[in-house]
Amino acid sequence: MALEPEGERAGELCLGPATVRCAACGVTYYCDVDHQHADWVSIHEKICQLLIPLRTAPPFYNSDKERKLGQEQKRSREIFLAGMTYDTAQNFLFEGNHEDAIPAALHSLKFSISIHGPNSVELVPAYLVLAETSLGLGHLSQGEEYLSQAHWIVLKNAHCSRDVQAKLHRNLGLLHAAKGNLDDSLYHLANDVYFACCAFGTTNHVAVAGGYFHMATVFFRQNRMDVADSLYSEVVNIWYDHFNHLIDIQYQKLITPAEIDLLSEEGGTEEDILDEKQQAEATQMLNPILEFREQSPKPRLEKMAKLFHTLAMFYYLIHDLPKADEFVMKVLQATEHLPEHEPNDSLYHLVKLIKSKPAYAK
Ligand SMILES: [Zn+2]
Ligand SMILES: [Zn+2]
Repeated sequence: MALEPEGERAGELCLGPATVRCAACGVTYYCDVDHQHADWVSIHEKICQLLIPLRTAPPFYNSDKERKLGQEQKRSREIFLAGMTYDTAQNFLFEGNHEDAIPAALHSLKFSISIHGPNSVELVPAYLVLAETSLGLGHLSQGEEYLSQAHWIVLKNAHCSRDVQAKLHRNLGLLHAAKGNLDDSLYHLANDVYFACCAFGTTNHVAVAGGYFHMATVFFRQNRMDVADSLYSEVVNIWYDHFNHLIDIQYQKLITPAEIDLLSEEGGTEEDILDEKQQAEATQMLNPILEFREQSPKPRLEKMAKLFHTLAMFYYLIHDLPKADEFVMKVLQATEHLPEHEPNDSLYHLVKLIKSKPAYAK
């Protein structure tokens, strides 16, 4: 990443007058070394060489056919880069790293505009990532600007997917919550829940949990503890069912003899693991709910037990066995004092799975 002086060009990220150029690709310019560094750690290191053919003059084409082929190659390269920069930004977001998400998200927006034009609904996800990073950094007016771009495009495009509309409303809800407009926030978060339910055809999908969670947090700020409490329970129930399903798949594998397993196996092992996004979301929701429940003056034992059980499954699924074990113990302690609790198969299966792991098999 050596520096070379350069003038007259617009810098990457801010479009300010360029003073340095990336020596590795020779086609990327920056206003200063700070922006060069920010771009490098976010995304440029990954795309540096890929940008060269996009940013150098096209070769001389001998025929229309060649020119067309050249344009198609350029377009598919841009489509690849739009997706790759978007995924990179999204991964930084999952890690809570808003700062490093921004350059990657800006590139994703730029590539999407180049492919689809400035008013396409395809731009909305990139605007939403930019909005989310801005809100995460406390840059509310910047976030609001990105959101109004996204909102405007959604309003003009009747065929925008429900999933994207849910995400738009979630971010609008978070913006209003950050600005202290709690009623407006609740309005948008309720829309988030509505569209997410429509998108996934059920009220019990993990994509719906986020809307409920943020609504609960707003009710909590309004001191409406009963509503907050029941929405938090809804969130826990959704994660409980989701994890329970994943645990059940693993348990069936554990108890199924290997020969039968081979017959039934169709190569699909993806569905029984928790992806990175869900892992980040579950952590962001379940930890504050645990804190909320632990601080409540009269915690209800059934609710505590269900939350502990959910966390035990979560830690098992992310391979943190000591934590999984710890939460299983907490479930047992909580249910011990319940007058009439039924033995729970699901917990029993989880304990079996934990004990099946080498470190725990004694
Ligand atoms: Zn700059
Ligand atoms: Zn470069």
